Amino acid sequence: MRPTELFPIFSPVTTLKGVGSQVAQMLGRLVHNDENATVLIKDILFQLPTGVVDRRNSPPLREAKHETICTFRVKVETHHPPGGGRFANKRPYKVVCSNDTGDITLVFFHAAKDYIEKTLPVGHERIISGKVEMFDFTLQMTHPDIIAPVSDLEKVQIIEPQYPLTAGLTNKRLKNIILQALEKVPEMPEWLPEAEVKQYGGLSFKQALLAAHSPKTELDILPTTHARMRLAFDELLAEQLLLSKARENSAAQKGILLPNESSGLWLQLKQQLPYQLTSGQHEILAEISTGLASGNRFIRLLQGDVGSGKTIIALFAMLRAVERAHQAALMVPTEIVAQQHFSRIVPLADALDVKTVLLTGSAKGAERKRALEQIENGDAQIIIGTHALFQEHVNFNSLALVVIDEQHRFGVEQRMALVNKGDRPHLLHMTATPIPRSLMMTLYGDMQTLILKDKPHGRKPITTRVIALSRADELLKRLEAALARGEKAYWICPQIEDKSTDASLFEQDIAAAELRFKEFHTRFGNKVALVHGRMKADQRQSAMQDFLNGNVQLLVATTVIEVGVDVPDATIIIIERAERFGLSQLHQLRGRVGRSDKESFCILLYADSTTVDARERLLTLRNHEDGFTIAEVDFKLRGGGELLGKRQAGQKQYRLATAEYTGDMLFEAHTLAEKLQKNPATEWLIEWFA
Ligand code: ADP
Ligand code: MG
Repeated sequence: MRPTELFPIFSPVTTLKGVGSQVAQMLGRLVHNDENATVLIKDILFQLPTGVVDRRNSPPLREAKHETICTFRVKVETHHPPGGGRFANKRPYKVVCSNDTGDITLVFFHAAKDYIEKTLPVGHERIISGKVEMFDFTLQMTHPDIIAPVSDLEKVQIIEPQYPLTAGLTNKRLKNIILQALEKVPEMPEWLPEAEVKQYGGLSFKQALLAAHSPKTELDILPTTHARMRLAFDELLAEQLLLSKARENSAAQKGILLPNESSGLWLQLKQQLPYQLTSGQHEILAEISTGLASGNRFIRLLQGDVGSGKTIIALFAMLRAVERAHQAALMVPTEIVAQQHFSRIVPLADALDVKTVLLTGSAKGAERKRALEQIENGDAQIIIGTHALFQEHVNFNSLALVVIDEQHRFGVEQRMALVNKGDRPHLLHMTATPIPRSLMMTLYGDMQTLILKDKPHGRKPITTRVIALSRADELLKRLEAALARGEKAYWICPQIEDKSTDASLFEQDIAAAELRFKEFHTRFGNKVALVHGRMKADQRQSAMQDFLNGNVQLLVATTVIEVGVDVPDATIIIIERAERFGLSQLHQLRGRVGRSDKESFCILLYADSTTVDARERLLTLRNHEDGFTIAEVDFKLRGGGELLGKRQAGQKQYRLATAEYTGDMLFEAHTLAEKLQKNPATEWLIEWFA
């Protein structure tokens, strides 16, 4: 039960002053990378400042330095509107101001004349603050951050937090929203033991939040401050508490009985498949079969390298639920993969007279309504979908089995939200990102694993080459020849940089992909298509379909295709700026090829400026094809960073804990969570991160 004192932080941001539907959309983009998502007050509080702006500097105007932030008290002298003529809207509106120490020109582009006349009336004094620049020996300030009455001088001359921004949302606005949100934070009981609190400078969670939002110097925004460490630790602890609860709930629980029925759906499915199951797949199916029929709740993590054939195992498992007139759900992290699984499973399921339904975020209107109805009335027997599956209005008729594909892409609370739609359903997690044993316990508790050891017969090893970008010309010639031979290739565009601070970098990735697409389109013509995360679902779907059926041979993509995508006859993957990707991510990407008996290639293109360390990383990938080995190396190199907190579009991530600092903390949180299980104050903490 949620403590009533916490209700205010669960209100949507639209209940705050100055947050209309437009601002709400911007906040949605900032916080959830989705402008239609509801942002709660507590969500916005986790947007911590990424910098500070010091507005205390008020030098004499003549001495103000180029490109520094300054605050001045000035008198408005003259207005210079852009005037008429052809380029009037390109020319700025200028306002000249001065004081005893010199003068300064304020510059406004696309400004409303009325607005400027009102805020800067000639002959009046004003406080202005913003970045100054020198142009042709004139001091200028373009779009001052602050224009205020003289009485506000002290309020302006402070150190201000600077927040990560999204198009259209100014720092001033966001700061204002966050200040209001901070006022809604109630007093709460302390959930950490005294010794722990001391480690974080004696700060409570609330004090830590307040401190994190009022940095006094650049040092206060480092992840190592007491405030940020406390918040990060609490986030990890909340997750561990949830995991430990989940363990408690599931240990030796009775489960829905799904015996090996004689309706024979398994047999029928086996007969339909165009291939023989591998012995690894047989073994896993036998374990699943026994587990589901045991009367206990069956919870397992299925680990199998990329391309090892996990999807078909999921289908077999789901049929067990269907045979007993229950439903099964398969959740995947991206729409592309949901679509793909759906289109592969439908023909197989149809032949068994099993009804399959797809539910993703892009389903709208009547289509969505029908899917929801079928899920609720039980017509839908197998339900495939994305995050859309665990949203509030989705009601299952009788959910007996949940399969979570690429499960490391989901958070504990997301997995639990779906599981809670059934009455203790069986649970099969699947992953191709092997988890080193040392991390397993902390991330998943004592969940038992099923390991799929082999790959389908006849797969050839993938040849991996590490090549400098400066040799790309040569590569393109070879690519051209390969396309002419009828081969299919992916071209993965660079990740711009670490995305932990600025959501708009996601757009930069897309821009990079669009640029490549244009170039290749000119060179290779209609053989080329583009996919990225911001495209309309049906456009993306048709590009994927064209690539699958061969109308398109070169697919330019962002990392939206990183996991799960299965185009068996694709044989080449080229990853541009490969040094910017993590090892496990590169391994996943490489796994898009080598899915048939044809010979495959993975080309890792790196910039000449790449450090020796990063090149070493690429060589690791070249030298190893086994995902388990790569994961171990990655874990040693980066302390499991990629598993713990890599931020990507659409991927579950920590909001406060950062990969670099969380390794040890996670283990500590794990130990503490066991001890705090019975402490009622932890309920408060869990709510913050639910
Ligand atoms: P992953 O484990 O990465 O999710 P998929 O389930 O996408 O792998 O399977 C990869 C490809 O292998 C698919 O095209 C699938 O149809 C095929 N496949 C699966 N099992 C076998 C098998 N036993 N023999 C041949 N091909 C198989
Ligand atoms: Mg898969």
